[in-house]
Amino acid sequence: MAAKAAPPRPVHPDIERILLEEPQLQARIKEMGRQISRDYAGRKLTLIGILRGGVVFLGDLMRAITLDCSVDFMCLSSYSGKGSTGAVRVLLDLRDSAEGRDLLVVEDIVDTGLTLHYLLDNLRTRGPRSVEVCALLDKAECRKIEVSAKYVGFKIPNEFVVGFGLDYNEKYRNLPYVGVLRSGGK
Ligand code: 5GP
Repeated sequence: MAAKAAPPRPVHPDIERILLEEPQLQARIKEMGRQISRDYAGRKLTLIGILRGGVVFLGDLMRAITLDCSVDFMCLSSYSGKGSTGAVRVLLDLRDSAEGRDLLVVEDIVDTGLTLHYLLDNLRTRGPRSVEVCALLDKAECRKIEVSAKYVGFKIPNEFVVGFGLDYNEKYRNLPYVGVLRSGGK
């Protein structure tokens, strides 16, 4: 029996507007995967997924990469609610050694840059061959410290967004699009 097409999913009532629709996200992630596959040909690529916001992006990106690569995870804490606390803590560290590996940090979003700045300094002490960043979203105008991501999916304005892995107090991560949360949040 042929499967019936699923009815369109309604936009979540807490979302003011959608910034990036799923097909747009998927098309860009496929492009990024192709570029990474070209750039890292013949190298020992390890993708470092940053929990929890980066997991949805990582899941799609890794399937768009056609090279052999390994995947490891870190969990950092710097945010509570809608604001950065500035202080970064490692809640979960890599399982494997980073020595001699080409590390590609896979992040959901770069905002002030404080989290990534801390993370990159931390990873460089571990003797990797290289460390680069692949971020789905970049709020470049919010930077408090200089960090550059080699791969950026989309530059977005200074608005608080959720969905596609990004949360507000652990909600909305499972939305298939990136949307701006109504002011006040839920
Ligand atoms: P940064 O240290 O660059 O200010 O912030 C990095 C982290 O803050 C991101 O990995 C993400 O978890 C969180 N963050 C920054 N901006 C947003 C946003 O607009 N929405 C959500 N949900 N999280 C954000």
